[in-house]
Amino acid sequence: MSIKLPENVRKRIKQIVYVRSFRARICLLILLVGIVPSVLLRYGILQAYENRAVEQRSATVQNQLLVVAKQLLSNNYFATYHSDDVSLSASRQVINAELETISNLYEGRVMIIGQGCKVLKDTYGISEGKTMISEEVIKCFLGENTSHYDAENGYIEMTTPVVATAADGSSAVVGVMLTSVSNASIVGILDVLNQKAINLEAIMIMVIVAMALFLSGVLTKPFKKVTEEIQKVKDETSEKALSVPDYVETAHIVDAFNEILGRMNTLNDSRQEFVANVSHELKTPMTSVKVLADSLLAQENAPAELYREFMEDMVSEIDRENRIITDLLALVRMENKTQELNIVSLNINDLAELTLKRLRPIARKKDVEVVLESMRPVTAEVDEVKMTLIMANLVENAIKYNREHGWVKVILDADHQFFTFQVDDSGIGIPEESLPHIFERFYRADKSHSREMGGTGLGLAITKRAVLMHKGSITVTSTEGEGSSFTVKIPLNYIADT
Ligand code: ADP
Repeated sequence: MSIKLPENVRKRIKQIVYVRSFRARICLLILLVGIVPSVLLRYGILQAYENRAVEQRSATVQNQLLVVAKQLLSNNYFATYHSDDVSLSASRQVINAELETISNLYEGRVMIIGQGCKVLKDTYGISEGKTMISEEVIKCFLGENTSHYDAENGYIEMTTPVVATAADGSSAVVGVMLTSVSNASIVGILDVLNQKAINLEAIMIMVIVAMALFLSGVLTKPFKKVTEEIQKVKDETSEKALSVPDYVETAHIVDAFNEILGRMNTLNDSRQEFVANVSHELKTPMTSVKVLADSLLAQENAPAELYREFMEDMVSEIDRENRIITDLLALVRMENKTQELNIVSLNINDLAELTLKRLRPIARKKDVEVVLESMRPVTAEVDEVKMTLIMANLVENAIKYNREHGWVKVILDADHQFFTFQVDDSGIGIPEESLPHIFERFYRADKSHSREMGGTGLGLAITKRAVLMHKGSITVTSTEGEGSSFTVKIPLNYIADT
């Protein structure tokens, strides 16, 4: 039968177990930092205690065995082992009893091994008379006493040499005591200590787990707050700028988000304004056409000349509508960021000459003189179509917004990095308050004049966009009634986006 957990509990568990969760990682970190040292400490302390206890037990037993060894020597135990002397056998029994006491006391076994590795005495009574050849025994006969702890089988095994000193001072190992004692009492104490440590550890782990859950929740709360605030903006229940200053990190995230939000709002506003402007601009020629047609229809038996006159006006309004649509399309296409430039190395002097040649007929109609002053030969990496558009728009404006018998002067110059295309005119100029707006879409400083000239209000917006696509800049100075000067500055070598 499976247990069905409530939805919110399941969600929480999922959140915490989820490895990519910041909260889960903090939780895990606190758990590791809290639990691992306590477990290591427990093992370390218990291990140290065990080693120390084993050492102490070996030393105690060894000391007792040394006393026995002395007795063995004083009783000449090894030399007289096979003798039936009653007095000797009595003293042997005393020693044997002592060995029994030691083996009982330490729950172990003591063997006395004489020459030829022969077992002379075994407190278990099973190996007497047998030969005991082991590495430890041989080492001991060579004078080295050994001690070995076998934790797995639960005993400490040690060898003690019985060293006889002759009258001339020389000493020799005459026998070996091979002893093994149980570690049961040590293990018993260890078990109690371990149990106590585990109990304490369990309480500690519970406290650490509670702390980890609590702290990870508190520490990640500001990030949760950021998500909630962003969610509110997403659900459109709030348009306020976010503020979560709890951490420097959350403040950075929120600042970046606010900046994007601000940009989006500006973009939205300008899009709405653009749509409103486009609709208005497209409606104006349509309204004029409708007014013209309506007034024709209202007149019965209107003369053919009137029809002709009205039709001509209608055609010019339709042309205007066409121009607006063409300009709009050009602008939208250029604002599309993915639009590629067709960059080629071009002679800019020739391009300027050609553009002016195309515009001179319009200038002639207004009796405006157009001159080109090339300061030096200029070759630059540009998009030919867009560069022609920049030059033509500026010179056309300079002719359009000029006075009768005026002049337009185009100056082409360059340094080692940029070339400049400057268009000065003796025209009507631009009012100071209009200067910051003339590059905006549909902005006209002089509305009636612009319409009269067939302007769409998009020319300078298109020009600026084309200049920016070349990573250049455009500036303007103007005095009302005296004339204007537009300067375009473009890098000689095209700088591609990285
Ligand atoms: P338009 O189609 O109306 O010419 P533009 O974007 O080319 O649109 O120009 C925007 C406005 O800037 C024009 O309506 C005009 O009032 C002003 N302007 C542009 N160039 C000149 C100039 N050389 N002299 C005077 N006014 C200018």
